Amino acid sequence: MLDIQKIRADFPILTQKVNGKPLVYFDNGATSQKPQIVIDAEVRYYQEINANIHRGVHTLSQLATDAYEASRGKVKEHINAKFAHEVLFTSGTTHGINLVTNGFASILKPGDEIIVSSLEHHSNIVPWQMLCEKTGATLKVIPMNEDGELILEAFDALLSENTKVVTVNHISNALGIINPIKYIIEKAHAVGAAVLIDGAQAVPHLKPNVQDLDCDFYAFSGHKMCGPTGTGILYGKEAWLNKLPPYQGGGEMIKEVTFEKTTYADLPHKFEAGTPNIAGGIVLGTAIDYLNNIGFENIQQYENELLEYATKQLLEIEGLKIYGTGKNKASVVSFNIDGIHPYDVGSIIDKLGIAVRTGHHCAQPIMNFFCIPGTIRASFSFYNTKEEIDSMVEAVKKAKTMLS
Ligand SMILES: *Cc1c(COP(=O)(O)O)cnc(C)c1O
Repeated sequence: MLDIQKIRADFPILTQKVNGKPLVYFDNGATSQKPQIVIDAEVRYYQEINANIHRGVHTLSQLATDAYEASRGKVKEHINAKFAHEVLFTSGTTHGINLVTNGFASILKPGDEIIVSSLEHHSNIVPWQMLCEKTGATLKVIPMNEDGELILEAFDALLSENTKVVTVNHISNALGIINPIKYIIEKAHAVGAAVLIDGAQAVPHLKPNVQDLDCDFYAFSGHKMCGPTGTGILYGKEAWLNKLPPYQGGGEMIKEVTFEKTTYADLPHKFEAGTPNIAGGIVLGTAIDYLNNIGFENIQQYENELLEYATKQLLEIEGLKIYGTGKNKASVVSFNIDGIHPYDVGSIIDKLGIAVRTGHHCAQPIMNFFCIPGTIRASFSFYNTKEEIDSMVEAVKKAKTMLS
């Protein structure tokens, strides 16, 4: 059992008033709030350690390097990677995915096929489309059903010896559906394809085990899991990271530079050109510690309660429809009210202090599938409460009365 009031006290922003009303923050799918311990760690880095990493012999530089590498080690443990050098610091999920698609530009040929799913965030569609344009490869899409679940028989039928990459998100940001990635990874490997998992929405709710999943790449952002913005991780299997060319050239990623020829640094530095977000990388480790102290089992159990409660309360509103009715779901409710634009509901309930996301959630193909302009998305975190859900439901009822 979690002591939610004690947990809420860790998040200074939650005591704020917005538009004169207590803040109800249900936009966790876009970014999570930060506990004081994370905010303090960021400040402490700049007050006590700030120096560039991997460069100086001086004490501060060594302290900064040690803290940065210790954080890499923490992430390695957290996701159960085999080696720390399979853990690359990035600026976020988008950066991680682009690092991989850029690498595959020198590997794919015309006639090769890339499979994405119809549940993807634009971040995991557009870079693959750009890769197809560059290489002449073809993009194939796993379709979904009315419940927002991927149709696995259709996925099986798409696989062939031409399939070179399969990519799918672990949890859909727009609908909250948890995808059967273990099945997808196994099937993709059976035809020799590499698999990238977009874990951006998974890491706030669960602890991915990359060796057990056996995925080739796993990308996520720090800011959705209580960490700072501009931080992220790309996990890649050693063999793949050795095979892919570097993404960016610059300092830090080289062994030797002459004007005739440059040799690249060993992993992970080959993919970490330039001065990174040092403070952010270190503090991401603090955020992971914080989440592990609460415990992902506790988080999941409590968030499931919130999901069930919100689903039940919202469905009592006449004309309200929930999208993403599949069984396996994270704490996200995406909905609309008959005849009312989601943006109008979002604007009215914002005046009542309630922060939800409205729109296509960077997943336009999903909205096209349901023939809607967008949805209202409430995404819950372990620091949210049933009382807050009550406030949202009341606010949505009020908005419905005003707009119909
Ligand atoms: C947020 C999100 C992204 C993009 O993450 P950034 O932090 O903006 O790079 C990609 N995929 C999914 C599923 C997301 O939810």
